[in-house]
Amino acid sequence: MSPAHLRVQGLAAGYGGFLVLRDLSLEAAPGLTVILGPNGAGKTTLLKALAGLIARTGDVLLDGEPLPPLNASAAVRRGLSLVPEGRQLFAQMTVSENLELGGWLSTKAERTERLQQAFADFPKLRERAQQLAGTMSGGEQQMVAVARAMMSAPRLLLLDEPSLGLAPRMVDELLAIARRIADAGTTVLMVEQNVRKALAVADRGYVLERGALVASGPAAELARSSAVREAYLGPQ
Ligand code: ATP
Repeated sequence: MSPAHLRVQGLAAGYGGFLVLRDLSLEAAPGLTVILGPNGAGKTTLLKALAGLIARTGDVLLDGEPLPPLNASAAVRRGLSLVPEGRQLFAQMTVSENLELGGWLSTKAERTERLQQAFADFPKLRERAQQLAGTMSGGEQQMVAVARAMMSAPRLLLLDEPSLGLAPRMVDELLAIARRIADAGTTVLMVEQNVRKALAVADRGYVLERGALVASGPAAELARSSAVREAYLGPQ
């Protein structure tokens, strides 16, 4: 399967009558694209709107074909998979059971094959296959959440703050996993607050502030730009 190309044009989304995003346009080409921005900027809202979890207007095109709004299962069928903020694992279920749930739209044979692939990609999870997800460390739980999202064999993976609340070494490990997934042929669109580390692994980036994009470009250029450095990276 080939990585997806996402194009978003004139997107608006919010909650009830309250619009968080207005007229937002962006692209995620094959590789790793990061969305940066302060708390409350609308990053999670963007991923939820793309995944079909909240209403939106505007165009979302996956390889040029429109993705219907408010239809999470259509999004998964079209190859889109979300790792939600805060992981949202089933704490009282085992690692294996959580992973199996990620393959909810797949056949039993596909699920079995992908479970073996997940254990090959995440050897730590194979050792913990029968452990209750809620008893694992934050970093391990984040790994389960990523592996669960990969169980639908996505072509576009949406990752919402994978490093949230993790120790620095685990942050590095999760960001390396995101990079590996992109290199293996799944387009990744990742929201991150860990600006320096995210720009070091990403290909391209956008900066979202108060519901609007204020900067975009190759990750290395964003890391050098004075606006990003002043707002997010601090003095060197
Ligand atoms: P964070 O890093 O804090 O998660 P974010 O950039 O992901 O920030 P969002 O979670 O998308 O921001 O929130 C954007 C705005 O939408 C905020 O003002 C927030 O209060 C509001 N908001 C988020 N979720 C809801 C909801 N379920 N109902 C109403 N308003 C919401």
